[in-house]
Amino acid sequence: MIFKLLFSLLFAQNLCDQVIPLAPDYQALDARIQKKIADASNLAPVASEADSVLSKLIAAKSPILLDWLKKRELMSAKEETIAKEWRKYYLDNFILSRYPSDNKRINNGVENLFLEIANLAFPKVYQQKIEKLLVQVQKDAKAMVENWPIEPTQQKQIIQKIASLKLYWFEKLQGTRFEQKPLEFVRWGVAYDPIHHEINMGVLAKRYPSDANLYAVLAHEMGHAMDPCRWGAYFNGPSPFTKLHSCLRQDKSVAAKKRDDSQMQQALKSQLLTPAMAQSLKENPTCNRSFYPAVGVQKDQLAEAFADWFSAEVFAKSTFLGQHPRPDLCASNELQAGSSYLPNHDRLAKIYGAQPLIAAKWKTPTPPFHCPL
Ligand SMILES: [Zn+2]
Repeated sequence: MIFKLLFSLLFAQNLCDQVIPLAPDYQALDARIQKKIADASNLAPVASEADSVLSKLIAAKSPILLDWLKKRELMSAKEETIAKEWRKYYLDNFILSRYPSDNKRINNGVENLFLEIANLAFPKVYQQKIEKLLVQVQKDAKAMVENWPIEPTQQKQIIQKIASLKLYWFEKLQGTRFEQKPLEFVRWGVAYDPIHHEINMGVLAKRYPSDANLYAVLAHEMGHAMDPCRWGAYFNGPSPFTKLHSCLRQDKSVAAKKRDDSQMQQALKSQLLTPAMAQSLKENPTCNRSFYPAVGVQKDQLAEAFADWFSAEVFAKSTFLGQHPRPDLCASNELQAGSSYLPNHDRLAKIYGAQPLIAAKWKTPTPPFHCPL
C-alpha cells in the first residue's frame, strides 16, 4: 500500500519531469512587445495628453495621484522618471482601456502599435502552422465523433459545429472586435468566442512550447463549442454528455465544483443582477458570467473540465499521442478562490492522464478514473 502511494506520488511528479512549460523564445517576444508599448507612450499625441493630465492633477494636489506615486514608490523619484511612468500608466489605463479615443492622432498611433505587435507575434508562417493544426484537430475530432454511440441527429450537429470552427486573427483595430478592447489581444491567448464560433488568437498563444501543446489547446477550445454551458443555446435536443457531466463532478474523477448560487438573492436585492439575468443564470446552471458569481465565490467548473476531457479524447486519437499534451499545465499557477479552472495538476493527471491511451503511453501504473462518454 505504502509502495503504491509512493509510486503514485512519484508518478505525479514524473508527468512534469523534463518538461518545458513555456516556449523558450516567449520571454524575448514579451520583452519586445512591452518595449513597443512603452515606446508608444512617448508618441507625441499620447505624451502631450498624458502630460497635460498630469499637470492638472499636480496643480489640484490630487489624492489619486499621491496614491499612485506611493504605490509605485515614486514619491522621491526624479520628475523625468515620474513623467515616464505616468505616460505608460496613462496609455494602459486611460487610452487602451477606453479605446478608441476622441483623438484621431492617438488612435492612429495605437493602430500602428498593434499592427507592429501582431506582425511580431504572428508572422504568416506561424498563422499557416496554426491553421494547419486546426484542420488536423477538426479531422481527428470528426473521426472520433463518428464513432461515438450517440443519436445521429446529435452526431450530425456536433460534426457540423466542428467543421465550421475558424480562427480569428488580428488584422487591425478599427472596425474589428478588438477595437473596444485592444488589451485583450496582448493579454489573452487562445480563447473560444461562442457568438462568432471562432477561436480568438491572442499574443499569449506564443507561450505554448510545442505543436502538440497547441493541438491540445485548440481541441480544448473546440470542446467549449459544445460544453455544458453552450449546448442548450447552440444545439437542438438533449445533450449526449449528461452522464459524462455527472461523472466529471464525482470525486473518483476531477470533482468539478458546482456554481455557488447562495448569494444570488442578495445580488438581486442589491441590483447587481436584474431579474432577467438571474432567470437566465438559473436556466443555465453551469454558465459563469464576468459579473457572476462575484469574485471569490465558486464558479462552475464543469465547462472547463469538459473542454479538457474533449481535448484529451481527441489528442489520444491524434499523431501527437506519445508527446506531452499539455506542457503548459506543468507551470505552477495560483488560482483565484472560486476559479472556474481546476488546479493544473488535476487537469493534467486526472483528465489527460485518465484517458486510457494517454495513460498507456505514460505507463501510469494505476491510472485515475476515466469518465466515458
Ligand atoms: Zn477553457
